[in-house]
Amino acid sequence: MPSTPYQSPISPGVSWYEASVGERPEYPPLDGSVTADVVIIGGGFTGLSAATHLAKAGTNVVLIEQYRFGDGASGRNGGQLNTGQRAWPEDMEDELGFTRAKALFDLAEEAKAHLFEFSRANGIEIDYVPGHMSVVHKKRYLKDYQAHPAIMAERYGYPHITWMDAQETAKRLGSTHYFGGVRDTGTGHIHPMKLVIGTARVAAAAGAKLYENTSATSMKSEGGKVRVTTAKGTITADKALIAVNAYGGDLEPKSAAHIMPIGSFIGATVPLGDDTDVLPGGESVDDSRFVVRYFRRSKDGRLLFGGREIYSTGDPKGIADHIRRQITEVYPQLKDVELTHQWGGYVGITMPRKPYVREVMPNVISVGGYSGHGVMLSNFMGKLYAETVAGNRDRLKLFEDLKIPAFPGGRALRAPLLFLALNWYALRDRF
Ligand SMILES: Cc1cc2nc3c(=O)[nH]c(=O)nc-3n(C[C@H](O)[C@H](O)[C@H](O)COP(=O)(O)OP(=O)(O)OC[C@H]3O[C@@H](n4cnc5c(N)ncnc54)[C@H](O)[C@@H]3O)c2cc1C
Repeated sequence: MPSTPYQSPISPGVSWYEASVGERPEYPPLDGSVTADVVIIGGGFTGLSAATHLAKAGTNVVLIEQYRFGDGASGRNGGQLNTGQRAWPEDMEDELGFTRAKALFDLAEEAKAHLFEFSRANGIEIDYVPGHMSVVHKKRYLKDYQAHPAIMAERYGYPHITWMDAQETAKRLGSTHYFGGVRDTGTGHIHPMKLVIGTARVAAAAGAKLYENTSATSMKSEGGKVRVTTAKGTITADKALIAVNAYGGDLEPKSAAHIMPIGSFIGATVPLGDDTDVLPGGESVDDSRFVVRYFRRSKDGRLLFGGREIYSTGDPKGIADHIRRQITEVYPQLKDVELTHQWGGYVGITMPRKPYVREVMPNVISVGGYSGHGVMLSNFMGKLYAETVAGNRDRLKLFEDLKIPAFPGGRALRAPLLFLALNWYALRDRF
């Protein structure tokens, strides 16, 4: 373990992931001006995966990350892969029709298979644990959850989801807090920082030029070239991928208008031991709240419990108090359990909770806004971007065609407006 815990400068708290991976390989900052076929801004899953697939295809690719790889959401999230897009396909059907909803579902299944195959083929140990449960905190949602497994099996060809009544839910969770739910044996959860580190290693070995501690301060596209300015030089390329998600600030105004950062926070307990009744089957869990709670056990038996809290200052003590309250609601037996780590990060959300994929300037594509569902999708989006650079845009286009309105209120008012909206939803979660 590192002697001094590393604290991401852009995300609060030291994560258990950071503390459990040992020394992270360091990549140098970019010093001077370079040219490339493609420049990527952002070293999370989206950017690193794109760099890997581009380099493997022989493209000259440069990636810059403003701090360390994984310092944004990718190294610090709940690690839950889930299934499909963020919304259930039957809900997407209302807006998109069956054919598009099914195509997006199938793509997400491919994303899942790709993540497993990529980590296996490249020897990346991601600590995968199978099993996921989505559980109901208000009785009014029970009917939809009960209908979901048959819809998934019959309309979407996905037979891995089963309904759980209150009794089974309580047994599998070790908690009577929920009224029922569904269990998905076709997905599970991973150690996200191990995937970040492994992907960077594979990208570098394939020939991608990777730079940490190198911030893009501005960018423009003119005369068929993209120019990205950093503190110590310029990167000139034919194409660019903006993969900054919730952390982009003012770098590019269209992405900023469509992707909003929302804080999400996680606490890790001490290992609970072999005789605990908490999640004996090892599944991950998310619940039906709009301000969703998500939790799972780590491979060494800790409870990693996450929830979104817009009031939180990001101060680690504030995070711990808040997460402890939420843990105690679900697991009263853990009210005095020691929390060893507490941390957070920023989820990039869009208005309709679907990814934002757009050509925001000539030859510049921006990808992000996975809305809390990016562990599996962002890794695949990098592959779809590489396919696009190679001349096949069909699959990326499935996302480009999604209607994603900008947040109302412009840059000044959108945060207060969203704050009000989230408060309203948080209130609705309680009644
Ligand atoms: C606490 C938390 C829990 C989550 N839980 C889950 C979960 O369980 N399941 C799930 O599917 N999703 C989850 N998510 C979301 C998921 O982590 C993201 O969707 C995914 O990691 C997005 O990857 P990314 O590469 O697009 O963005 P990020 O990983 O955020 O990477 C963006 C990078 O861009 C860099 N950057 C920004 N601006 C610049 C610049 N100007 N120059 C250079 N670099 C720049 C940032 O430093 C950052 O490293 C969670 C997110 C958080 C924060």
